[in-house]
Amino acid sequence: MVDLLDLTLPELEQWLQERGEPRFRAVQVWQWLWQRMARDFDCMSNVSKACRALLAAEARITWPEVARVQESTDGTTKFLLRLEDGAMVETVLIPSDSRDGVRRWTQCLSSQVGCAMGCTFCATGSMGFERNMRMGEILGQILVARAHLGDDRPDWPILRNLVFMGMGEPLLNLTEVMRALRSLNDDRGLNFSPRRITVSTSGIQKGLKELGESGLAYLAVSLHAPSQELRAKIMPRAARWPLPDLLAALKAYPLKTRERITFEYLLLGGVNDQPEHAEALARLISPLKAKLNLIVYNPTPGAPYSAPSEAAVLAFEQALWQRHITAIVRKSKGSDIDAACGQLKAQNRAD
Ligand code: SAH
Ligand code: SF4
Repeated sequence: MVDLLDLTLPELEQWLQERGEPRFRAVQVWQWLWQRMARDFDCMSNVSKACRALLAAEARITWPEVARVQESTDGTTKFLLRLEDGAMVETVLIPSDSRDGVRRWTQCLSSQVGCAMGCTFCATGSMGFERNMRMGEILGQILVARAHLGDDRPDWPILRNLVFMGMGEPLLNLTEVMRALRSLNDDRGLNFSPRRITVSTSGIQKGLKELGESGLAYLAVSLHAPSQELRAKIMPRAARWPLPDLLAALKAYPLKTRERITFEYLLLGGVNDQPEHAEALARLISPLKAKLNLIVYNPTPGAPYSAPSEAAVLAFEQALWQRHITAIVRKSKGSDIDAACGQLKAQNRAD
């Protein structure tokens, strides 16, 4: 039985046409699914009774099930979600400062159950890879979040931005992630323009090229080290694509007007947070149209790292500014609820 959330709009059109439904039907159903967040067919009041019966007999709508919600004192809200086969993934809602009294949100999405990249600092990486998420599961995270926020006005959404920075390496689940991005872009559906979406990658050659050519999202690259040698220690599998080659690909990466590549640099105490690292990093990225997010490491049990000292973080940031690199320390949100990638799932296992 097909899950309607797994069909793109053209696929839904074809599916309905094959069953004798008129062409306009697909858009009606699509709007119910993605804008009005329907979870059953009965509520689809402008869809004929016959069609609703057909849908009930041959299709389903499966949202991820919320297994656990944790809210941080700063508003960051983390969901542990159970997928149909029992697989668990996480998604996080991060509040942005409110203008005009209305709080807006950014959602951090997972794209795989687990991750094959095995970065040494990452809770998801330590779990290994279970499976790819399907389009409906990826986008289902957004439905859960919008329902939680009561975000039901497609013309004025308070869920403003999406970042693929949850569990998994999105560019290793390229087919489903690209389908999700295309569906997000549809203004009769979730209506997220590419400027409101960022895909974060540890650097996957084939996927990077395809994402760039599609123009469907902004790009963030997890760098975490200024040299091939150190990067190979911190993220051994990602570093199989040598740093000079990754940077050459990024130089050639197609950017939109005013777009810059975001580099993410996780500061690990005593490992990559010293002045010489800042200097090498500045040299490395200054030829690129880029900005830098410095992320303070959130300790994960069992990982061989500690958080950097506050003084080291400040000095690192200043060294970059002096070299005219736009570097911003990302305030660690939700650290009281282990909001870093994979941590809630890891903790749940330990419970
Ligand atoms: N696989 C992709 C996207 C998901 S990971 C990638 O690696 O880019 C996204 C981010 O989570 C990484 O950039 C990393 O900086 C962050 N992260 C992982 N573990 C963390 C931890 N323990 N503390 C802080 N940030 C962490
Ligand atoms: Fe995978 Fe990203 Fe974690 Fe590395 S940091 S193990 S690529 S999820």
